[in-house]
Amino acid sequence: MFESDQETFEIETLAIRAGQARTHEQEHSDPIFATSSYVFGSAAEAAARFSGKTSGNIYSRFTNPTVRAFEQRLAALEGGERCIAVASGMAAIASVGFGLLKAGDHVICSRAVFGNTVMLFQNYFSKFGVEVSFVDLTDYDAWRDSIRDSTRFLFVETPSNPLTEIVDIARLAEIAHQRDVLLVVDNCFCTPALQRPLALGADIVVHSATKYLDGQGRCIGGAVVGGQALLDKEIYPYLRTGGPTMSPFNAWVFLKGLETLSLRMRAHSENALALAQWLEQQSWVEQVYYPGLPSHPQYGLALRQQVSGGGIVSFRVRGGQEQAWRIIDATKMLSITANLGDAKTTITHPATTTHGRLSDQDREKAGIGAGLVRVAVGLEHIADIKRDLARSF
Ligand SMILES: *Cc1c(COP(=O)(O)O)cnc(C)c1O
Repeated sequence: MFESDQETFEIETLAIRAGQARTHEQEHSDPIFATSSYVFGSAAEAAARFSGKTSGNIYSRFTNPTVRAFEQRLAALEGGERCIAVASGMAAIASVGFGLLKAGDHVICSRAVFGNTVMLFQNYFSKFGVEVSFVDLTDYDAWRDSIRDSTRFLFVETPSNPLTEIVDIARLAEIAHQRDVLLVVDNCFCTPALQRPLALGADIVVHSATKYLDGQGRCIGGAVVGGQALLDKEIYPYLRTGGPTMSPFNAWVFLKGLETLSLRMRAHSENALALAQWLEQQSWVEQVYYPGLPSHPQYGLALRQQVSGGGIVSFRVRGGQEQAWRIIDATKMLSITANLGDAKTTITHPATTTHGRLSDQDREKAGIGAGLVRVAVGLEHIADIKRDLARSF
């Protein structure tokens, strides 16, 4: 359904309609295909499917109708030709690595990415002879100067976690493409409802579906989105043989999540902006980091590149760790957890949790001080979120 004229539909419509292939049962909602394998009409048909001469379901490690519906819907939202769903956000990043890299290759990664992404490149791909360099997200000269003949891709998250720095995706894509290097963007924080990296020149988008695509903190999943030829050649064979498969049940939950993605992202952004504006007026707050605030150093770029600021707000309090912990511990409603992208607001002290494994020096370099607090703003009423944050005063 829909595939031939996807481009004429708006994202809110695609999120609800794209990807569903109704069966002969004429079901209105997407079914869950809980089956590991499929039956062939004959030995010849089985042979044709396995060899790739004809298309169709073979085995749910790499072909499942519910998972495919999710893939087609997310591809439509990101404006990509192809999506490959996988078991987690980390499996998405690992699949890009396993698919694209060989010994002797080089990757350049933003310093400000998810901690496990750093570990994956630094501790695991390095074992297979892949070299990785880390650069500051917004230092374009460093990106350009770090590219070698062996560089395969650049890897970024924008906005960054937790300081919400933004990189100009189009500018970075140009730097990459001048040297025949791919640009990979982790679009977890914005989702396609707020930012579409492929349209700005990125080659591959990766997702942790666990976060906003689900939106209610239920399932773990991930996805890789990009051009058909690139993904069919480099990523799909890894899914088929490596097996980081998304379950049909999780795909169904994510399909339901996507239907409300635009509405939710708008509401997360509205709540987050209101909270950021309120925090800026509090005497106990030294600095607020939020791309939707005019005080954000890249406010102009944020306005151009994103529909709105997204759901993540960070702020630095006076009084360092002691004061930061006091605010966190005084909350009664907010969940003290490092997760994000949930209807429930969560609160984190990055310096001692998500970024606790960094050395003091690296943490200093990353700008993640002891007084920093990160809030992943949920969908509760904004008045209740503010009151909960102000309980210790
Ligand atoms: C959570 C997260 C990941 C990893 O996703 P999982 O689904 O937890 O494996 C990757 N990137 C970003 C930005 C994340 O927030």
